[in-house]
Amino acid sequence: MFTNVIRRCFVPCLIRRSLSIVSNNSTVSSSPIRICVIGSGPAGFYLTQNLLKLSQTIPTTIDIIEKAPVPFGLVRYGVAPDHPEVKNVINTFTKIAEHERVRFIGNIHIGKTIGLKELQEFYHIIVLAYGSSVERNLHIPGETTLENVFSAKDFVGWYNGVPDNAQLRPQLNHTDQAIIIGMGNVALDCARMLLSSIDDLAKTDITDIALDTLRQSRIRHVILVARRGPMQVSFTIKELRELTKLNGVQSMLNKEDFNQIDQIMIDKLERPRKRLTELMLKTARTKQSQNNAERFWYLKFWRRPKQLNGKTLVESVDFEHTESVANGDFSDPNLSVQPNGTIETIPCGLVIKSIGYYGVQIDPWLPFDTERGIIRNRQYRIDDRPGFYCTGWIGRGARGVIAETTTESHTVAKRIMEDVEQGHLTNLHDVKSGGDGLIALAKSRQIRCISYEDWKKLDAHETNLGHTKGKPREKILNIQKMLELTAS
Ligand code: FAD
Ligand code: NAP
Repeated sequence: MFTNVIRRCFVPCLIRRSLSIVSNNSTVSSSPIRICVIGSGPAGFYLTQNLLKLSQTIPTTIDIIEKAPVPFGLVRYGVAPDHPEVKNVINTFTKIAEHERVRFIGNIHIGKTIGLKELQEFYHIIVLAYGSSVERNLHIPGETTLENVFSAKDFVGWYNGVPDNAQLRPQLNHTDQAIIIGMGNVALDCARMLLSSIDDLAKTDITDIALDTLRQSRIRHVILVARRGPMQVSFTIKELRELTKLNGVQSMLNKEDFNQIDQIMIDKLERPRKRLTELMLKTARTKQSQNNAERFWYLKFWRRPKQLNGKTLVESVDFEHTESVANGDFSDPNLSVQPNGTIETIPCGLVIKSIGYYGVQIDPWLPFDTERGIIRNRQYRIDDRPGFYCTGWIGRGARGVIAETTTESHTVAKRIMEDVEQGHLTNLHDVKSGGDGLIALAKSRQIRCISYEDWKKLDAHETNLGHTKGKPREKILNIQKMLELTAS
């Protein structure tokens, strides 16, 4: 009832405002709805694209605010260098960033250099799309004290040129065995980087530093370890297939690990899980005959890490063997496990913990679920904070591929524009200055904002540098240098 009253008064008013703006042809002097999206990963860009589509008749501007001096989030800093086709989404993102109603504002760290609540002075609507930037931990002895133990987040950041990870310096030349804990797609990415031929990697946008270190690598055996069974792995078929097809690399799956899985069980699975399980089975059953194999990868199931051992560098990991709780169904994705008392020590000289990411609360005022690492929200509306929304990993947790972000962004944009049109947002009559106000505030704090045009200068520099080396790009690893290049 109340909603309907507001709707009756507000929508015509909004449309009148929009008409007057259109007829005066002066969107600058009137006050459009100012939206800001925090985070320039896939979630931020696809949401902006959908907001543009749905706000064609309502004067609206959208600013994408990014803490890094460069856009694209995990598309630049997560997606593996040997997956260039995935990075093609950057072409779409560029069109979005260059739209007349969109402005990219980089090098603004919300919650650090500019407060979240300060944004309310400049924007009517604030969408949080800042992803999940922190790694999960095992909380076991040796994890933080021993050398050559890395989170996948840092290892990925190292080979992908994240400035904070430039000094990681993994030692790959003193050991021939690496353990990766976890069996998700990030674990497979890390395994592929350790096992791929240098000639193949040299043609990608992997950093020169990582390439040189991998060139010296003596690692021949990569063991991926999961605490549950083969039917609970979280990697997907395309990524598994890539690993089975690497040149000079042999899959060492153990067919006994699949004894408990029969055809009846497989036939009941949903198609993606069915095909994945069949590929694992086929790989395990096919006698490997890569005579020229120089490197090997293994899947070890039902093992939970208990302790990392070593003096300075990691030398081995103790695993507790696990089994399903109360005769659980082996195909149950939620299967629970418990330790059975057996301890196994697996030697290694490198450990990568690939057990997932989670999000952080960038402002104490933001309702946050610390357990799950997500902003508390009801269907993308942030609890008790009208005008605030979330999308992408920070709203749903660190899972899902870029395509899922695309699908979700339709719904989020629709929800926001419904709230606009149905009068749920009471501040829309206020005049807000949007990016102009934000940039002025940043300037007063000696923060240099990076525009999309600025980024394109750095982009050109990186691609030119890469081309001289036969690579698509050589990323700049130093923030100061990045800022200089965007200014030149
Ligand atoms: P992000 O991509 O993380 O974007 C969040 C953005 O917010 C970042 O740019 C960040 O710098 C910015 N930000 C964070 N905090 C702040 C702040 N306080 N102020 C301002 N800005 C901030 N999916 C695929 O489909 N194919 C793949 O090959 C693939 N490979 C992947 C590899 C790895 C290692 C990982 C971790 C994921 C991969 N994914 C892949 C999944 C894909 O990257 C995610 O689905 C997607 O990036 C999530 O989008 P997002 O926008 O929510 O988060
Ligand atoms: P993930 O898919 O959630 O995998 C995490 C792995 O860590 C699981 O095997 C999990 O096992 C294990 N794990 C979690 N906590 C553990 C603990 N305490 N001890 C031992 N093992 C633990 O996460 P991710 O690999 O980081 O990937 C994140 C998302 O990005 C996924 O949706 C992924 O598909 C996507 N991604 C996609 C691509 C691609 O498309 N090419 C590439 C990279 C990433 P349990 O199941 O037992 O918890």
